[in-house]
Amino acid sequence: MALKITDDCTACDACVSTCPNEAISAGDVIYLIDPARCTECVGAEDSPQCQDVCPADCIIKDPAHDEDHDALMAKYHGLHG
Ligand code: SF4
Ligand code: SF4
Repeated sequence: MALKITDDCTACDACVSTCPNEAISAGDVIYLIDPARCTECVGAEDSPQCQDVCPADCIIKDPAHDEDHDALMAKYHGLHG
């Protein structure tokens, strides 16, 4: 499933450059993850890179975008050809 950023985000910007899918952007207050681009880093990395660097521990799974590993891999290949 895609990940999402909670209200605990401090807008530190640390996560943006770690995303292999350019899924993270600055919002009006907190940062945002585009669920159409987040693959939990499946296809590119062994673990979600944004979660690994977030100092606020505010990046969590988003049950609204429940996808299994195969679906995440298909999304990755859809993004990168
Ligand atoms: S889990 Fe990976 S693909 Fe998803 S937003 Fe974080 S860095 Fe990007
Ligand atoms: S690393 Fe965490 S606190 Fe920093 S901008 Fe990203 S989600 Fe927000």
